[in-house]
Amino acid sequence: MNLKKAAVFFIRNNTFPLFAFGFLLFALWSALIFMFHSAEFLPLRAINITAALYTLALCLLYKRLNRLVSFSLFALLVIAYSVALIRLTRMLCGSELYLLCAIPGVLLMTAEYKRPRWYYVVMNLLLVSAIAYTLYCRVRFTPPDLQEQERRLFFMLSQLCAVSVTFIMMIYAGFNTLVILRHLDYKSQFLKKELTYTAKHDVLTSLMNRRRTMEVFTQIEQRKAQENIDFAICIFDIDNFKRINDTYGHDAGDFVLKSYSKAIWDAFPKPNHVARWGGEEFLIIYTEVTSDAIFELERLRKRVAETPIVYNGTAITVTATFGISSSRTLATAEAVLSDADQMLLEGKSNGKNRIVVSELF
Ligand code: GH3
Ligand code: MG
Ligand code: MG
Repeated sequence: MNLKKAAVFFIRNNTFPLFAFGFLLFALWSALIFMFHSAEFLPLRAINITAALYTLALCLLYKRLNRLVSFSLFALLVIAYSVALIRLTRMLCGSELYLLCAIPGVLLMTAEYKRPRWYYVVMNLLLVSAIAYTLYCRVRFTPPDLQEQERRLFFMLSQLCAVSVTFIMMIYAGFNTLVILRHLDYKSQFLKKELTYTAKHDVLTSLMNRRRTMEVFTQIEQRKAQENIDFAICIFDIDNFKRINDTYGHDAGDFVLKSYSKAIWDAFPKPNHVARWGGEEFLIIYTEVTSDAIFELERLRKRVAETPIVYNGTAITVTATFGISSSRTLATAEAVLSDADQMLLEGKSNGKNRIVVSELF
């Protein structure tokens, strides 16, 4: 397993390193306690071995257990261990620090889950009560009468352990916060992009919708006013579309709308635009007017009309009527569109499946 894979594994399975760390710590303590020979250390040996086995089980089961459940089991272990530690040793061994670490841990490690508010209340109440209990034990119980050397060694080791656990836990909590924040940031950026996209595009055809088209109108009007660059607008409407819906069904109609508009869209590279204006009406916005625009549009109209759209094995011949005008003598996009629309109506009443070019083009 290389370093990158290991990093990804620890980020994705972020309770696992916690359990593994817990296991190593308890196992280490179980071994260290063999250095002490007084009878006072016997129960300590037992609780460390139990805790090591418990965390080993959590490590082995971490994939099967729900993360909320497994983390809660870990937090309960920290509580039980800290309380047992102070109760059995009756010495200052920094067990409150483990409990303090668990408070941000409970909040952070379960942040991705929808958990009831009582979960936090119960967990934090348990943790705070355990802290209060350990403090009470410190005051209430007199430390055992240990051999000076053993007492000092145990004190040193337990303090060292408590401080390093706190340190590691804080780094771990900070790292997890960073991961959560990054994830949230990524998610909100993604949602923002998606929202902006859906606000400006048609769901069925993915073409620009009316809202985005109005923005493009403003842009081309500004270019015309500032740089005197003319634009053209073509409006086209699928012929006898109602009949297509009635004959082949609404889904076939949707498929025709998607396929036909895609064929047109594919033929118009940027900076031109193709938009769904409504129903089975579409716009082609030419950001500049070229001399061969009509010739190319006619070729495209013919090609698309001669290529049937195949829906569920049925070939459907689809034609459309086009009206086109430009801004040469008209100032606003609205006026150009209105003129193009007149041409479309003319084309519809003169037999459909044709392009009618305005004399203002
Ligand atoms: P013409 O050649 O004169 O344009 O006739 P037409 O049948 O195409 O026009 P008409 O306005 O009579 O009918 C348009 C139909 O388009 C009616 C409406 O139900 C259908 N329509 C509009 N939007 C959608 C859509 O998103 N999906 C489908 N399947 N049908 C739609
Ligand atoms: Mg129509
Ligand atoms: Mg129509």
